[in-house]
Amino acid sequence: MAINRRKFAQGVTIVAFMAGIPGAGYLAFGRAHEKDYLRPPGARDEREFLSLCIKCGQCVQVCPYYAVFLLDIDEGTATGTPVIRPEIRGCYLCDLLPCVLACPTTALNHDVSTAEQVRMGVAILTDREGCLAYQKKPVTSEMIDALIAHGVRSEQEKELAEKLREYSGKNCSLCRDFCPYPERDAAITLNDDEAPEFHEQCVGCAVCGELCPTQVIEMMPRKTYQEIYRKETGYEP
Ligand code: SF4
Ligand code: SF4
Ligand code: SF4
Repeated sequence: MAINRRKFAQGVTIVAFMAGIPGAGYLAFGRAHEKDYLRPPGARDEREFLSLCIKCGQCVQVCPYYAVFLLDIDEGTATGTPVIRPEIRGCYLCDLLPCVLACPTTALNHDVSTAEQVRMGVAILTDREGCLAYQKKPVTSEMIDALIAHGVRSEQEKELAEKLREYSGKNCSLCRDFCPYPERDAAITLNDDEAPEFHEQCVGCAVCGELCPTQVIEMMPRKTYQEIYRKETGYEP
């Protein structure tokens, strides 16, 4: 009898998970599948986020930059939950954060309504010598074409593509110039036109990572500036 009850309970949990009941999948599989995903703005801490997200895709639907993707089937409990993929598109921190407003369960916390409140992670430079600004090399038209190939569907993407075209043949400052944080210098600077330096207000939106032609910028999801630049590396800017 005890075995039957357990089997029944397991069956209910699996059915509930398949039906998309918030939190059921997380309860079934625990933390085993937790990874540091780069979540959209306003995402609550990972455990709470997984328990609240119903995988409805509303955040995907409203994003004018097509920056939000639902995780594939092989991602355990996180399957179907939204992420930002910097290699495809960063988050441009739109006014009023429409993805957050669209979230019906507040897995994306509605208390987060401005870019300054966003905390997705923090950016790092992985290879200073690979940076075009450091090398004093220009951005090529092929590099710009590759960036524009990320997508030109909405008005916002068309405007972005137009601005990117202006950089063809010029010295690279894409990571700094397109950083969408309102007080950009508090997030990123290019000192003496050399490689970028990240600062305390970097929110990890991944725009710099998306647009870096030589892919020398990576995001550290869910990390804070203090964790990366002080505790983990001892680096003091
Ligand atoms: S803030 Fe804008 S660009 Fe970023 S994920 Fe939300 S809707 Fe997309
Ligand atoms: S430096 Fe700017 S563009 Fe890069 S992750 Fe930080 S806030 Fe986003
Ligand atoms: S986008 Fe920034 S980090 Fe990348 S090559 Fe250009 S200046 Fe260097």
